[in-house]
Amino acid sequence: MEVTEKTRCLIIGSGPAGYTAAIYAGRANLSPILYEGLQPGGQLTTTTEVENFPGYPEGVDGTQLMEDLKKQAARFGADIRSGLATAADLSKFPYKITIEGEKVIETQTLIIATGATAQYLGLEDEKKYAGMGVSACATCDGFFYRKKTVAVVGGGDTACEEAIYLAGLASKVYLIVRKPFLRASKIMQRRVLDHEKIEVLFEHNAVGLFGDKAVEGVHLVKRRGESDEKAYDLAIDGFFLAIGHKPNSDIFAPYLKTDAIGYIITEGDTPRTKLPGVFAAGDVADSVYRQATTAAGSGCKAAIEAERYLSDHKL
Ligand code: NDP
Repeated sequence: MEVTEKTRCLIIGSGPAGYTAAIYAGRANLSPILYEGLQPGGQLTTTTEVENFPGYPEGVDGTQLMEDLKKQAARFGADIRSGLATAADLSKFPYKITIEGEKVIETQTLIIATGATAQYLGLEDEKKYAGMGVSACATCDGFFYRKKTVAVVGGGDTACEEAIYLAGLASKVYLIVRKPFLRASKIMQRRVLDHEKIEVLFEHNAVGLFGDKAVEGVHLVKRRGESDEKAYDLAIDGFFLAIGHKPNSDIFAPYLKTDAIGYIITEGDTPRTKLPGVFAAGDVADSVYRQATTAAGSGCKAAIEAERYLSDHKL
């Protein structure tokens, strides 16, 4: 496909990492182009109140925060467009990104800030009660469940971490695990199993939720082999998914180093990838912290790196 446009700095993704990169790249006179992707504003637009982003003592609505970041990026000249990057050719410099399968942008620097998507069980009720008791982020939403009863689904390190975090706030935490064992590291297993507020429900599956407007309980099935099944309901106020995240790195992965799950591996504490001029920021390169604040920080670093790369190469 023919190149339709050329730029010095292309940013893919519109979460805190993408917009922060756009603010810095705009202020450095790089005239960045940013494509918003499938979910303009990123994961924060799926939560309600954000209370842990610095600078908002009273908290801020997630969608509002992202709109503010977008306005701030536009103010410094970022060209913000809707559209999804559907293909990438990073085999040679300058790099080529295809948008919506029809437009090819050639860029000297690329900032990948495509984020990660939390996995859900796929229940209709997860959508029905989105933001009304269903969450995929304990650090984001746990605070709203102080002294309440919550359930966490999953048996990995994330689920254990989220259960322990929530146990510091809630009065009771159920951990719903589909297998008869936890997959998490031994130390996390011990912490969960020894915690007085956490009850692990092994061989349990959540099959639905109920409640008037918000979640009031979960329909569970306890399964021990084909013939031994028991269905019952459990009263809860919050339902947290912790069954893994999928980094949105598919189109870039063939050219970069990723881990087994697909998270882009960067050089040490920098957003540099193995390709010169290509940087990865935010959750697509972070399986550990996954916070809006850390994503914004890495977006800032990526833009500074892009500016240095262009100036060092006299581009
Ligand atoms: P994992 O893939 O390790 O675990 C996912 C968990 O969710 C598993 O228990 C899995 O069950 C369960 N699960 C998946 N799909 C379903 C489903 N449809 N229904 C019910 N349960 C389901 O993901 P994590 O996010 O926990 O961890 C990802 C990586 O990050 C891991 O390598 C982990 O060690 C690492 N990590 C490290 C941390 C640390 O060191 N502090 C903190 C957090 C993560 P099953 O076991 O049956 O497949």
